[in-house]
Amino acid sequence: MKGETISWTGTKTVVLGMGRSGLAAAEWLFAQKAEVTVFDESKSAGVKDLARRWEARGAHAVTGLEKLPHARFDRAILSPGIDPKRPVVVQLRSAKVPMLGELELGARACLCPILAITGTNGKSTTTELIAAVLQAAGKKAVACGNLGQPLCEVAPWSGGLDYAVAEVSSFQLETIETFRPRVAVYLNLTPDHLDRYADMKEYAAAKNRIFENQTGEDVAVVQKGLALPKLAARTVTFSATDTSADYNLREGWLCVGPDQVMLQEETNLRGPHNAENLLAALAVADAEKISRDAARKAFAAYRPLPHRCEVVAIRAGVTWINDSKATNLDAMERAVLGMTGPVVLIAGGKDKGFDFAACLPALRGRVRAALLVGQMAEKIEKAWREGIPCRRVGTLAEAVKRAAALAHPGETVLLSPGCSSYDQFKNFEERGETYRQCVKALPQEENKKP
Ligand code: ADP
Repeated sequence: MKGETISWTGTKTVVLGMGRSGLAAAEWLFAQKAEVTVFDESKSAGVKDLARRWEARGAHAVTGLEKLPHARFDRAILSPGIDPKRPVVVQLRSAKVPMLGELELGARACLCPILAITGTNGKSTTTELIAAVLQAAGKKAVACGNLGQPLCEVAPWSGGLDYAVAEVSSFQLETIETFRPRVAVYLNLTPDHLDRYADMKEYAAAKNRIFENQTGEDVAVVQKGLALPKLAARTVTFSATDTSADYNLREGWLCVGPDQVMLQEETNLRGPHNAENLLAALAVADAEKISRDAARKAFAAYRPLPHRCEVVAIRAGVTWINDSKATNLDAMERAVLGMTGPVVLIAGGKDKGFDFAACLPALRGRVRAALLVGQMAEKIEKAWREGIPCRRVGTLAEAVKRAAALAHPGETVLLSPGCSSYDQFKNFEERGETYRQCVKALPQEENKKP
């Protein structure tokens, strides 16, 4: 039954997925004396080792199988990374085992207010900005959720916190029931995860659930122009392109209505997309009655996270930028639009179902050459044939070598793949680090002299 209070002691609970959030949920349940089974389809040595450790603690573990040997469980916890169409989920659903996500579990156990941030892009940056503003005002706030510590890991010590600032993905929102953030931020919606969702409507429906349990006492901070259902929460809007938004950008100023709060230039965050992240964070600070001085101080001190349009080297007049976190077309397009001068773009990776032709008009004239890597290289080459000189180069290491030979002083070599990394790397961090190492290893003379 939706929202019922659950006593976990002795409850036979299976946790699907032994990644960070699944294990955090399992730990929390174990501490509540639930009868825990951990499950993962993976046959990897790492997962087997984890399973052995859980068994040694008295839990059950099932690994390397697509389904559980039986479905006799009182409850199931679903990790966000597991597609609800997987056989094990279908098995448990048809056995009518009630299923929750780790976010729901953590939120139920959390003793402090939760501020939540969703959107296709900018979640991590905005989550960190909000936590930084709260901390600058002397509040005990932690950035968590999809970013770093899962909520189940924070919940046990949340009594000592003023805020949990949680980055929440659409996958996590799929399995909420009662999750009700005091402030919910919805940054933007552009195509992504179309390998998991049937269409944009299904993706949007998952994201909209962030507002589902909010009431008139809560606040919704939303990008102006987003198509949303009628919200119960008090709604404030932000936009970098529409000055009629409550929080807006005017001639480089972050503004509330017509009032200037701070120049974006005083921060280390560039581009209109980052202006929106700052404006959303300012709206949250205002909703929580945090002083503008704390906001200004935190914004000025904030350093962008690695792998988000991060300058990794300037060699012989060529700027090398790592935007490995750009795993969809909108993030890639925004990165290119934020560059000054011609760009040698390194793109490609795992296929997520994007139509790369859609971003050609924005990139034409800005991207002087594209070096394409990974599974998507051929498809991107076909999509861009009419507007951008492309070359398929296989690996990132090869792309860096070719880029060094191609780029002229004043130009930028930008790794902004527009795809996920899983075809050739463990994750976007490994891809970004590989890029950094390859750039570092370039002989100096590979860059053309001015
Ligand atoms: P997320 O956690 O949603 O993936 P990040 O802050 O990690 O967001 O940024 C991911 C990518 O999206 C980076 O390439 C970054 O440059 C780009 N980005 C950041 N903020 C925005 C935004 N508001 N709109 C579009 N792209 C953004």
